[in-house]
Amino acid sequence: MADKEIPYKIYLNESEMPDSWYNVRADMKKKPAPLLNPGTGKPCTAEELSHVFCDELVKQELNETDAYIPIPQEIRDFYKMYRPSPLVRAYCLEKKLGTPAKIYYKFEGNNTSGSHKLNSAIAQAYYAKKQGLKGVTTETGAGQWGTALSMACSYFDLDCQVYMVKCSYEQKPFRREVIRTYGAKITPSPSNTTEVGRAILKEFPDTNGSLGCAISEAVEAATKQEGYRYVLGSVLNQVLLHQSVIGLETMTALDKYGIKPDVIIGCAGGGSNLGGLISPFMGRKLRGEADYKFIAVEPASCPSLTRGKFAYDFCDTGHVCPLAKMYTLGSEFMPSANHAGGLRYHGMSSILSQLYDDGLMEARAVEQTAVFEAAQQFARIEGILPAPESSHAIKVAIDEALKCKETGEEKTIVFGLTGTGYFDMYAYKAFNDGTMTDYIPTDADLEKGFAGLPKIE
Ligand SMILES: *Cc1c(COP(=O)(O)O)cnc(C)c1O
Repeated sequence: MADKEIPYKIYLNESEMPDSWYNVRADMKKKPAPLLNPGTGKPCTAEELSHVFCDELVKQELNETDAYIPIPQEIRDFYKMYRPSPLVRAYCLEKKLGTPAKIYYKFEGNNTSGSHKLNSAIAQAYYAKKQGLKGVTTETGAGQWGTALSMACSYFDLDCQVYMVKCSYEQKPFRREVIRTYGAKITPSPSNTTEVGRAILKEFPDTNGSLGCAISEAVEAATKQEGYRYVLGSVLNQVLLHQSVIGLETMTALDKYGIKPDVIIGCAGGGSNLGGLISPFMGRKLRGEADYKFIAVEPASCPSLTRGKFAYDFCDTGHVCPLAKMYTLGSEFMPSANHAGGLRYHGMSSILSQLYDDGLMEARAVEQTAVFEAAQQFARIEGILPAPESSHAIKVAIDEALKCKETGEEKTIVFGLTGTGYFDMYAYKAFNDGTMTDYIPTDADLEKGFAGLPKIE
């Protein structure tokens, strides 16, 4: 199709919206390793997981055979309020860069949570409600997941308790108020409301908190209250499954105009947006129907794929969760204090870890000042103020487009623009003031994290 016939924004009709999620594990020859019970060292059973997670979500977590899992009508109705998300041709950015590459981004920031997280939050809240639960508990780092879950819970009239990493709770008072507006209860973590929180506070009274620690508190809170379960916004198989709506919509939109992407790029924290964006394309690659280059982009200050170990590890600091086999920096790893954005989890989704280990996906680590330069450039030319997380993908999309400028290749680049950055103004301020610095952990820093890996196999 002639270039000018392709609209700036490709939307889908309601009838073109996905009615099932796509489960990439069904097409993976080497399946991701199972979650292990830390006590027995054996794979977690559905029964064991059901003490922590909702029953239907446990089924999804363990399902590696069904390629398509129907999206319940109630969830599809909610999706209709803010989906499909636009797939935008970055004509202005292309022109500015002077590249022959064609750049598209899938923008997930068009809802109040400001990110893709709502796609899974609404599904998880739905299954909790359907099971007759009173409420759910969770952790949040940068705050997008807490916001998304509070929105989803208020929609289904469920109680929602959010443990927010302390430094983020203090740095982002407005994030906190959005969450409270949706009726959730929010506690800075570590807190003295849980045993694990009290133990961590005793050992490290001045800690700023971490995701791993907030997860431990949220899991404890769920298991100690009747009628509550824990929900997680990334990393797990079920979350990647729900996020496949991003990739399915992208694929339908591109197919509609006969566009074949060459490179697909996403930022990687726990791996949910990237996994969701690439899953259907990876399915085609795994089935031998097409080939694509996939690039995961992570912060140089928290480089789990590019410098981590592929091993079983604890998912949380308090070691109350199952063990997952993943690329990890060790559950005690904490990114340096100057690291501004999200993407600070020590591990990576087991699905993406396996795909990466099998050589089906590449990974790059980028430094934060370069990320904010890309963010600024994008904001000025494409109009959207991107989240720092999303800007990792922007940075590498620009790098790839500039490579095309050198070689003259007209590649099609698609990247995930996961959200907006309105609550990240302290980070933007540091960048604008010129006080933002880069820190790359030394090998010795990383060794400390690896020393805490459990001894398995
Ligand atoms: C949470 C978040 C991410 C990273 O999480 P993933 O699970 O790796 O997708 C990226 N961008 C935004 C805007 C987020 O809120």
